[in-house]
Amino acid sequence: MKIIELKETITASNDRDAQVLRDELKRQGTLLVNLMASPGAGKTTLLERTIQDLKDRYSIAVMEADVDSDVDAKRIELMGARAVQAHTGGMCHMDAGMTRRALEELDAKDADLVILENVGNLICPAEFDTGAGKNVMILSVPEGDDKPLKYPLMFTTSDVLLISKIDVLPYFDFAIEKCVERAKKLNPSIEIFAVSSKTGEGMAAWENWLSNAIDAWKA
Ligand code: MG
Ligand code: ZN
Repeated sequence: MKIIELKETITASNDRDAQVLRDELKRQGTLLVNLMASPGAGKTTLLERTIQDLKDRYSIAVMEADVDSDVDAKRIELMGARAVQAHTGGMCHMDAGMTRRALEELDAKDADLVILENVGNLICPAEFDTGAGKNVMILSVPEGDDKPLKYPLMFTTSDVLLISKIDVLPYFDFAIEKCVERAKKLNPSIEIFAVSSKTGEGMAAWENWLSNAIDAWKA
């Protein structure tokens, strides 16, 4: 498994770089999904399950962005997907240039789906377009249903909200309807799936959305 060291890109316009990358990936037929969440929201576990369920139908590769660790990329490789670990050198988000560099190391020109597991936080990853075709965020039940009020930009920029760890709903004061209502108020077109990567509940609906997105990206 490759570990690469990334530095923040010095660029005139991250938005423009991101659009150029998105156009290239579109021509290549590779859907890049930018997965964002707080630390501990269960991004890697959800990815493991998703890869397990879709790997026979699609070629999938993963870029794990982390301040400093290679644990997640190793877990992903055990699932049979290609993975690269990108160290962000203390940077708390990925920008389009860093994403391009990581993609080059991953060498995923033939991949149908590349998932970027962004650095764990709900703030600045939402401010930097990575060039992804779709932005997906995870909010886990223990984090609370008030998060749309605290991190509105994350909800506005995401195409999909995965409410995760619903297996622990009985132990937390988390109202799914309230969370959905708050998220939809910020972003009426956001797709919302309530899932548990532990029990598998809700995973089929999310994976169905994802496979439709992969197919549509190639069309
Ligand atoms: Mg992780
Ligand atoms: Zn940041």
